[in-house]
Amino acid sequence: MDYPGNLFVVAAPSGAGKSSLVKALMELDSRVSPSISHTTRAPRGQEVQGREYFFVSPDAFDEMVAGDAFVEWAHVHGQRYGTSKKVIEDRIAEGADVILEIDFQGALQIKKIFANAVLIFILPPSWEELRARLLRRGEDAVETIELRLSNAALEVAQAREFDFVIINELFERALFDLKAIVHAQRLKFSAQRRARPDTFKALNIC
Ligand code: 5GP
Repeated sequence: MDYPGNLFVVAAPSGAGKSSLVKALMELDSRVSPSISHTTRAPRGQEVQGREYFFVSPDAFDEMVAGDAFVEWAHVHGQRYGTSKKVIEDRIAEGADVILEIDFQGALQIKKIFANAVLIFILPPSWEELRARLLRRGEDAVETIELRLSNAALEVAQAREFDFVIINELFERALFDLKAIVHAQRLKFSAQRRARPDTFKALNIC
C-alpha cells in the first residue's frame, strides 16, 4: 500500500525509555504526531483519558474488535491494547508522519499491513540497567516489574525483525539516533518527490 505519510513504529521492553524518546522527538519535530491507542488497563499516575490512551472497558474493547476497528491489537502484560485503523489510515493518507509506540506483536502486524512502515526497536544497555530503571520509575508494584522483566526477555529476542535498533544508554545519543532515522526516511526518493514536486518537475525527473 502506498501512502504519502511515513509510519514509524517504536517497540521496546518497558523501562527501555521508549515513551521519553518518542515524547522528546515530538517536541522537536512537529511533523511527527502520535497515534493514541485504546487499552483496557486503568490510568496510572498523571495519565489523562485521550492523551496517553483511550481507557476503555473490556466490553467496549470487545465491541471494537468485533467492529474491526483496530489495525492491530494485542495482549500485553495481562491487558489489551489496540491501534485504531481509521486514525492511522486517515493521517498517513493526509501526508502526516505518524509514530506508534506499541509492543513487538503489534509492530509486526503493522508491517504486514503497511509494508513501508519503519520498525524501530529500542534496547536497554543491559538487564541490570533495565531493572534499575523500572524500580526507579516507581510506577508499578514489584510483581508487575517482575512480570515486565520476564516479558522483556521474550521481547528483545524480536529485535532482529525490526529495521533499526537503538541502544538507549545515553538519552541524548538515542534521541539523535531516532531523529536520524526519521530524517533519513524523509530523504527517500519517493518522499523527496512528494515534498518537492516542482524541483523534480524542473529537473525532468518523473
Ligand atoms: P503501558 O501499559 O506501559 O503503557 O504499555 C504496555 C505495553 O503496551 C507497551 O509496550 C506499549 O508500547 C504497548 N502498547 C501500547 N499501545 C499499544 C497498541 O495499541 N498496540 C499494541 N500492540 N501494543 C501497545
